[in-house]
Amino acid sequence: MSSECIFCKIANKEIPSNLIYEDENVVAFNDLNPQAPVHFLVIPKKHYASLNEIDTNETFAQIFSAIPKITKKLNIKEYRTVINTGESAGQTVFHIHVHVMAGRNFTWPAG
Ligand code: 5GP
Ligand code: ZN
Repeated sequence: MSSECIFCKIANKEIPSNLIYEDENVVAFNDLNPQAPVHFLVIPKKHYASLNEIDTNETFAQIFSAIPKITKKLNIKEYRTVINTGESAGQTVFHIHVHVMAGRNFTWPAG
């Protein structure tokens, strides 16, 4: 837990948010500034500043195994997942999070 981290506060329910999924290790909630009709974030409850900080493979499994559970619940079959790591890659919140976006067409390559 990092006391100044907004996503730790969301995971600990110190800040109210509409959690769309929660299990022992992971929570998911809708992005404040959605980039697609569906846009939610999946985070580990434990604080890791970025993908570079994750030190156990279980953490990857916990995050990524949650995603298809959530998309199935939302009846979403096609979606984009994004992880921004570091400022130049667009990371603005330094608690690892996976963006999951759906409900529109996405271009590739991404800009
Ligand atoms: P990043 O740019 O770090 O990859 O993504 C951070 C994401 O978190 C952004 O899409 C931003 O809209 C979202 N975000 C930032 N602060 C909050 C917040 O307090 N609540 C929610 N639900 N999303 C947030
Ligand atoms: Zn945090």
